[in-house]
Amino acid sequence: MSNWQELESKYFMQISPRTPLTLVKGKGARVWDDSGKEYLDFVAGWAVNSLGHCPPVVADAVAEQANTLIQTSNQYYTVPQLQLAQILVENSCLDRVYIGNSGLEANEGAVKLARRYGSLKRKGAYEVITTFNSFHGRSLAMTAATGQERFQKPYIPLTPGFKSVAFNDVEAIRMATTDKTCAVMLEPVQGEGGVNIPDDNYLSEVRKWCDQKGILLILDEIQTGIGRLGTLFGYEQYGVEPDIMTLAKGLGSGVPVGAFMAKDNVCVFAPGEHGSTFGGNALTSAAAYATVKYVIDNDIAGNARKVGEYFIARLEELKNKYRFVTDVRGRGLLLAIEFNSDIGQDLLNACLERGLLVNRLKPNALRFMPSLIIGNEEVDQAIDILDRALGSVVGA
Ligand code: PLP
Repeated sequence: MSNWQELESKYFMQISPRTPLTLVKGKGARVWDDSGKEYLDFVAGWAVNSLGHCPPVVADAVAEQANTLIQTSNQYYTVPQLQLAQILVENSCLDRVYIGNSGLEANEGAVKLARRYGSLKRKGAYEVITTFNSFHGRSLAMTAATGQERFQKPYIPLTPGFKSVAFNDVEAIRMATTDKTCAVMLEPVQGEGGVNIPDDNYLSEVRKWCDQKGILLILDEIQTGIGRLGTLFGYEQYGVEPDIMTLAKGLGSGVPVGAFMAKDNVCVFAPGEHGSTFGGNALTSAAAYATVKYVIDNDIAGNARKVGEYFIARLEELKNKYRFVTDVRGRGLLLAIEFNSDIGQDLLNACLERGLLVNRLKPNALRFMPSLIIGNEEVDQAIDILDRALGSVVGA
C-alpha cells in the first residue's frame, strides 16, 4: 500500500475534509480501496454515478470517442454534442441547451441568461431570488446565490444581485420581489442543504407568482435531475415547467459535464455573449449522451422511484427501532436520516468499518444518494450495516 494520504496532506490544498480511504476501483454500486477492501457505495461520487461505477455503456462510448475525436472547440459542429442536445430537448419541456463543464458553470450560465433577459425585456432587472439552505456552487456568483452563511462568510463582499429567502415559503418570495427581480432560482428538493422537500404546491405557487410578475423560474436540477428523484426531471413531480433548468452530476456518469436549458422565448443570448473552450466537447458529450439514452431507454428513473420507496420504508423501520432517530425523508434515491444529537461522523465511521459509504449531511444527519441502478438487495445490505452501526454508536 502506498502513502497516498500523506501525499495529499503534503501537496494538496487542505480544502476537502476527506474520509481516510483511497479508492482504486469501482464497478456497479461497489468500490474497492487500495487494500482490496470492498464497499457498498451510497455516496456515488455525490449523486453523480447514477448508472453505477464504470457503466459499460458509458465506458465504451468514452473509449470509442477518445479514439475518434476529443476536442474541436465550438467553432465547429460535432455529432455527440448535437445528439446530447437533441435527447435532452426532446425529453424535457425546454427548447434549447448550452453544454458546459460542471454544475456551477451551468448555474452561472443560467443566471447570466436571466440577467440578459432582464436587461432586454424587463427594463434592466437583474436580481435573482434564491433560498436559505440552497446550494448552487462555489464560484463567486454562485456563492452569493447559495443561501448559506458558512459558504459566504470567507468571501465577503459578495457578488451583488442575489437575495435569499426562506425555502418552501412562497409569501417570502412575493415579499422579496421588486422591479429589479429578473428570476427566482430553486432546487426542487434541496440536496446539500438538508434533503429538504417542499410542500406539494410550493413550486406551482412560485410558478404562478413568476407568471404574474413576468419573472423567470430557474430550477437547479443539478442534483435532482436525470432520474434521481424518480422521474427524469424533478419538476415533473410538481406539475410545473421552469423557464430555465440546470443539470450536471448524473448527466455524465462522472465525466465533468453540465448544461443549462431554456424555453425558446428566454434564449436571448446573441452570438458571443456566452461560451467556453471545453463546454460540450465531443468526449464529455458522448459520455453524457450514452448516459441519458441509457437512463431513458431503461427507465432508470422508475427504478429510482421504486427502490427509493422501499428504502424509505426500511429507514422508517430504523426510526421505529431507535428513538434517537428523529426523521427520515427523501424522494427517489435522494434520502436522509436525522438524529437528536451529533452522531453523524461516528456513524459514518461505523458504516465505513462495516463496508458502507455514506455522506454526512449535517453533524446530526446522513445523506444517501446511491446509484440509481441498485435493487432492494443493496438497500437491505445498507440497512443491515446501518442498523449495526447505529447499535454500535448508541451502545458506545
Ligand atoms: N447545484 C446543486 C443543487 C448542487 O447540488 C451542486 C453540487 O453539489 C451544484 C449546484 C454545484 O455543482 P458543481 O459541484 O458541479 O459545481
